Amino acid sequence: MTELDKLSPNFTLEEFIHSDTAMRLSIDQTPSPLVLQALTATAKQLEGVRDLLGNAPIYISSGYRSYALNKAIGGSPNSDHLDGWAVDFTAPRYGNPQQICKAIANAYSLSFSQCIYEGRWVHISFRPTGKRQVLTAHFAPGKTTYSEGIA
Ligand SMILES: [Zn+2]
Repeated sequence: MTELDKLSPNFTLEEFIHSDTAMRLSIDQTPSPLVLQALTATAKQLEGVRDLLGNAPIYISSGYRSYALNKAIGGSPNSDHLDGWAVDFTAPRYGNPQQICKAIANAYSLSFSQCIYEGRWVHISFRPTGKRQVLTAHFAPGKTTYSEGIA
């Protein structure tokens, strides 16, 4: 990893744009300058999450999604992933996704717009205009619903 690829001390651009699906479908995940700006801010905020989790390594499963990638995976058309504000991650050295969501929900010094307990991973977004929201996702065939708090 070169210094150039680093968005923050512990995160590289590659971690935010990598997608197996994008590679398989040859989808270009190059971020625009505006998205890159958002990703840099997101990486800095994610450092705060890493601190909160006792410096447990954070594994990003999905960061930035180009329009084509978001469409390919059936993502919400107004997903925060499209603008570089959202990250799906796990941090097994700290705990399971539910424990991570609880820690984030209770950390009032941490500023985020949305934290969603998605079962196998945590979705967090840092859209500056968003209001703080903590949700649990419930997956049912063809429809995902959300409830307030961490269930
Ligand atoms: Zn997500």
